[in-house]
Amino acid sequence: MSDIHANLVALEAVLEALESSPPVDEIWHLGDVVGYGPDPNGVVARLASLGAHGVRGNHDAAACGGPEIEWFNPEARQAIEWTRQAISETTRSWLAALPQRSITGDFTLVHGSPLDPTWEYVTSAPVAAANLAALASRNDRHGLHGHTHVPAAWRVEGGRVAFTDPRHHPILALDDRPALLNPGSVGQPRDGDPRAAFAILDTGAATIEWRRAGYDIPAVQAAMAAAGLPHWLITRLAAGH
Ligand code: ZN
Repeated sequence: MSDIHANLVALEAVLEALESSPPVDEIWHLGDVVGYGPDPNGVVARLASLGAHGVRGNHDAAACGGPEIEWFNPEARQAIEWTRQAISETTRSWLAALPQRSITGDFTLVHGSPLDPTWEYVTSAPVAAANLAALASRNDRHGLHGHTHVPAAWRVEGGRVAFTDPRHHPILALDDRPALLNPGSVGQPRDGDPRAAFAILDTGAATIEWRRAGYDIPAVQAAMAAAGLPHWLITRLAAGH
């Protein structure tokens, strides 16, 4: 999962959805655990209790006091300033300990892209091509990333970089080719579907399956309003973009 963004209600909906499928061995997250949403301490405590394994996003770095905040738009910046005063020391040190990238077997976990783990958005064929080329020479050639908040897969098909839209092809068989795989965002989806997005990786069968889980959006919006978080961040949750 990726881009949970302090949305504990969405995270719980994903965990509940996982209970009705074959049990997962591990929870992997791809950063932006906090920022935007109203419950950074709750999300970090839940991930810590699950022994989740993951990496740092730009919002996580900024929440810990990093200079990344300078590149944020006004609403994101306001939310990070709120997050900085809302997080406990336990949450802050958990976030600060997240690595920029993590390699597990055939998989590279990053937030943005394998070439630029904090900032790069994989939203175009040229950017995907450069990252797929960088992964091609490595064993960990399946790049798991988030940051765009849009579920996606990129791979070379017939000599060209091809985009697969998981909304139309929710299951992809992995092979020796390098791939860029984005599960979408749990806490603030931007692909027009407001339900929490996540993916299930079956390393035995070599498949990835994208899934969605509905959650109580008005409850999260009420918590955001009570926290005084920016109006636009509240309304966009219901729109899913
Ligand atoms: Zn994000």
